[in-house]
Amino acid sequence: MMHRRLFLQHASCGLLSLTSVSEAIGQTANVHVFYDPAMLRHEPSSDHPESPRRLDAVMTSVRTLERQGRLSVTAPRPATEDDILLAHTPDYLKTVRSEIAAGRRQLSTGDTELSPGSFAAALAAAGTVVSAVDAVMSGRTRTAFCAVRPPGHHASQRRGMGFCVFNNIAIGARYARKRHGVDRILIADWDVHHGNGTQEIFWSDGTVLFFDSHQHPWYPGTGSPDEKGEGKGSGLIINNPFPAGAGRKEILGAFREGLVPAAERFKPQLVMISAGFDSRAGDPLGRFTLNDRDFAELTGIVLDIARQHASGRVVSVLEGGYALEGLPLAVTSHLTRLEHSW
Ligand SMILES: [Zn+2]
Repeated sequence: MMHRRLFLQHASCGLLSLTSVSEAIGQTANVHVFYDPAMLRHEPSSDHPESPRRLDAVMTSVRTLERQGRLSVTAPRPATEDDILLAHTPDYLKTVRSEIAAGRRQLSTGDTELSPGSFAAALAAAGTVVSAVDAVMSGRTRTAFCAVRPPGHHASQRRGMGFCVFNNIAIGARYARKRHGVDRILIADWDVHHGNGTQEIFWSDGTVLFFDSHQHPWYPGTGSPDEKGEGKGSGLIINNPFPAGAGRKEILGAFREGLVPAAERFKPQLVMISAGFDSRAGDPLGRFTLNDRDFAELTGIVLDIARQHASGRVVSVLEGGYALEGLPLAVTSHLTRLEHSW
């Protein structure tokens, strides 16, 4: 029997309570969820699909699992400006800060609404991934899920768009390289939309294998199989566009037949997931048909890769998912599979 220690940190009350318990369990179920309530301060207009209610719904399910002793919730630190600059230009950071301070309701670079709390929320979201990377790379946990918003994968070096301000997962990947010396990172993106920002940031990078399944034609319009990266990144961008109505057969097929052999060649030392659940059947912003069991299977495929090459290290980052009833169900399925990660 293995033992695990649960560290419970509660940020929302402003106090830090640290509880350590040991419990005998059959497996090293070991998943930490990273969450900062500052992310609720990003408040688009009331009818906007990317609403604080998304995280409230996710965290209601997470707290249920926490009470059952199946995961722990950890308070992250906010990102520093140096963290943001790992994936974005100084000019873009300046634009974001000044437009939010000026009270603009829309980012000038793209379709991302803003509110007075958006800068703190965006720093919290990026910092959540950075904190999760630290926890996984130091061995404090094997797998981490970042319950974050605003989402990130549409944000490029110079441009926020598609509800995204900073590219949370890209910042986390660059931080893993800088702070922990990780040379090869897999980012698997199953959001229904193409992760154009992540693709652009790592286009010629060479340290990231980016594998993306997405609906096409659909927003943002990029993600052709011809887009493969350049220079040191040549061949490290792998796009899998599918038409509306695609689901289990196409997407799990791409992960099994495309991602698994690519990862076998690349041998990632850290595995990250752009976990968008707008590819779930019934999502208002997508037309894919994945169900909660499919998300568990996708998680299992990625976990197998992590076990094979990366000592089981997985940092999963929430992207889209706009059905307030479906999103927490998909997240629960994902977390339940991560829980049995070894
Ligand atoms: Zn999406």
